[in-house]
Formats: sequence, C-alpha cells, structure tokens
Amino acid sequence: MMAPGWIRPDSVTAAAAAAAAGATIVGGAAALCSLAFAPTIGESAVDLEGLGLDDLELPRIGAMVTLERLTSSDEVAAGWPVVAEAAAATATPEVRRAATVGGTIAARLPTGDLLTALCAVGAAVVVVDAEGRSTPYALPDYLAEAPAGIVTEVELGLPCRGAYRRFANRAGFAPAVCAVAGVRREERIELWAGAVGERPIPFVRSVLPEEAALRNDVHASAWYRRRLLGVLSDEVVAAIQEEEVR
Ligand SMILES: Cc1cc2nc3c(=O)[nH]c(=O)nc-3n(C[C@H](O)[C@H](O)[C@H](O)COP(=O)(O)OP(=O)(O)OC[C@H]3O[C@@H](n4cnc5c(N)ncnc54)[C@H](O)[C@@H]3O)c2cc1C
Repeated sequence: MMAPGWIRPDSVTAAAAAAAAGATIVGGAAALCSLAFAPTIGESAVDLEGLGLDDLELPRIGAMVTLERLTSSDEVAAGWPVVAEAAAATATPEVRRAATVGGTIAARLPTGDLLTALCAVGAAVVVVDAEGRSTPYALPDYLAEAPAGIVTEVELGLPCRGAYRRFANRAGFAPAVCAVAGVRREERIELWAGAVGERPIPFVRSVLPEEAALRNDVHASAWYRRRLLGVLSDEVVAAIQEEEVR
C-alpha cells in the first residue's frame, strides 16, 4: 500500500474543500489505523493539527481535544460527569491519548461510548463545509445523517448530574454490548441507550424499548440487551440519586 499524500491546510474551509475532493480527514487516526474498523486512509489525507481545533473552553470542546484530556479535566467531571465517565470507559489509555472528540463523533460507531453520553447532555456538533459555512446540528441528527465537512467542535448542553454504565462481554477493553447514560432534568432522569442499535436511543425506564428495536447479533441477543438496559438504568438512576444525597 502506498503512503498517503498529506495535506496540511491553513484553514478549516480548505480542509473541508480537500475532504470534498476525496481526501481522508484524519483526527487521532485511532479508528483509521485499526483493522477492526472499516474506514481506511485513502491516497491523500487531511491533517487537522495546527488548525486551532484543540481548545477545551467548556461548554465547547474542540474537535481535536483527545479523550484523555476529557477524562483528566476536573471541570468536565464536575459539570458533565456522564461525559467524563463515558470517555473514561472508552478503549485503553493508549487509544484515549490519540482518539479525538471530532473523530469519535465522525466515526459514528454504534458502540461509541462517548456518543451516548453526548446525546444525553443535549450536545450540538458544529460542522464547517467546503464553502466555509458553519452549521450546528443536534448530535442525534448528525448521527442519523452526517453532513459532509469538518467537525470543528461540540457544544455541551447545560451542566447536569449524570452517570454512565456499560456492559461488555469480557473484562478489559472491549466494545459495549449495552450502555446507559442518564442525566438529571428537574424532576426526571433522562436515559439514553447505547450499543443496542445503529445509534443512541432515548428511552424510559418503565417502558424499555421493544426487542424488535434492539440489535440481535453474535455478541448478544435483543432479549439479553433489553434486560441489560433494565439493570444498567437502575444502576445509573441509583448513582445519580446517591450523588444527590451527599
Ligand atoms: C483498540 C481500540 C479499542 C477501542 N475501544 C473502544 C471502546 O471501548 N469504546 C468506544 O467508544 N470506542 C472504542 N474505539 C474506537 C475509538 O474510540 C475511535 O477509534 C476513536 O474515538 C476515533 O477517533 P479518532 O480521532 O482517532 O478518529 P480517526 O480515526 O482519525 O477518524 C475516524 C473517522 O472520522 C473521520 N474524522 C476524524 N476527525 C474528523 C473531523 N474533525 N471531522 C470530520 N471527520 C473526521 C475520519 O475521516 C474517519 O472516517 C476503539 C478503538 C481502538 C483502535
């Protein structure tokens, strides 16, 4: 395989134009360089380093902020604990040092831990297209149909109590077969399910999603995932309530 030609654009618009012309956008390259995931780097690659996309000025998180920076931020842990917990649950320290928030969102992996937590906090994703237009999208809309362009930042919703729990088929790092992110919204706790479908889905504890709406694959049946949703949502609700009485 030939090494890709590297494009180092001097603006986000130029990066989006290069991507529109067929170059592969590279964030941390954790997914792009792993045989476990479908996307690979083509003949040319757009390097997003040096475009100033690595600011962490909450509630805004630059696309090039790594998951490691999210897990080590006291402000994220205090204001959006569900996001901090989901980032910490992702992969290994080595992967988290490379993987970026923008790449994690753009990869749109059905098992993406961070995606479920970001949906729960009402995050919006900002995308810049090849004409330089900057457009915010609610994360569930972006995940349903990703528009072409560069993810430049994610803006979190208001700070809120929350918790994240996941279940995988083995100890150590492994993709989740079911995950639940929960956040406090006034009298209610809002819940989102991850790794049970193509993308995170909101649900209510008393009315779990029907089995027909859940993944049924070699890793876990829909029946099993539905029961995991019940167990994990109980754990999430208990964790939030425990935090509230401290
Ligand atoms: C060993 C291993 C274990 C893993 N375990 C987990 C896990 O437990 N949980 C989990 O959720 N994930 C896991 N992952 C997936 C990991 O989280 C993703 O690979 C990573 O987050 C992708 O981020 P990145 O910055 O490296 O993206 P890249 O690999 O650089 O890019 C991923 C995709 O996004 C595009 N892209 C990148 N940045 C942008 C941008 N700013 N704008 C538009 N498009 C962009 C790329 O073109 C590519 O299509 C694992 C990965 C590995 C390699």
